[in-house]
Amino acid sequence: MSRVEVCGIRFDDLSIQEAVERALWLMEEGRSVMAVTPNAEIVLEAQKNQDLRAAVKASELVIPDGIGVYRASRVQGKPLHHRITGIDFCSALLARMAELGQRVFLLGAAAGVAEEAGKRLAVRYPGLVIAGTHDGYFDPDDAYEIVESINASAPDLLIVCLGSPRQELWMKQHAERLLVGMMIGLGGTLDVYAGRVERAPESWRRLGLEWLYRLRRQPNRLRRVLRLPGIFFLALYRRLFK
Ligand code: UDP
Repeated sequence: MSRVEVCGIRFDDLSIQEAVERALWLMEEGRSVMAVTPNAEIVLEAQKNQDLRAAVKASELVIPDGIGVYRASRVQGKPLHHRITGIDFCSALLARMAELGQRVFLLGAAAGVAEEAGKRLAVRYPGLVIAGTHDGYFDPDDAYEIVESINASAPDLLIVCLGSPRQELWMKQHAERLLVGMMIGLGGTLDVYAGRVERAPESWRRLGLEWLYRLRRQPNRLRRVLRLPGIFFLALYRRLFK
């Protein structure tokens, strides 16, 4: 399988269709495997956060999320061929899961968001079974109970939206006890599915400006956005000196 390393993170270089087929195959195996969708921010955080790096390394599917990683791969001289986003991949996967009558559990985001996302997804993808939902602001001591309720609902897919690096670390910490086909960390995706956050229009996305659109809507992301160009300097450094 085609893999490309960007700033020390090994990405699967797959088209959306290929990634969906691989995910369905992994879910079929039922080994509670992890999937992650690192964006530039996560790649940068992984440089200093060893636990996050280990969680990404332990994942069987690593989807490059967004334009930053794609462009950094070019700066680095080892280009990714496919430019996809975590949410587009997730939507394509849910569409196929609906055809197969499969089950998804939604974990994360503020109270009521996962539930609303579940209602909307059930309408958008008839046949998809919403196995259960839970918000993402729980006491770490309640994790055992949450894992139990996820297991009892027997999902093929567990979507974990707790923000990074919490979601990657949470998945790794509980992977052994979780009984799911596959689990995937997807940041703010449930907010979008619930209609709480609007995605950039297609024209902005094509230009690779989704981050700018989000910044306009959520100006408090400025500090996060200002750090992102760091991935290009890092990629250049690795090209020249490693
Ligand atoms: N979140 C959560 N629990 C937490 C912290 C964050 O459920 O303890 C949720 C938050 O409500 C949001 C998501 O995690 O739905 C993170 O969204 P963000 O926009 O930061 O992610 P991005 O898409 O930028 O990676």
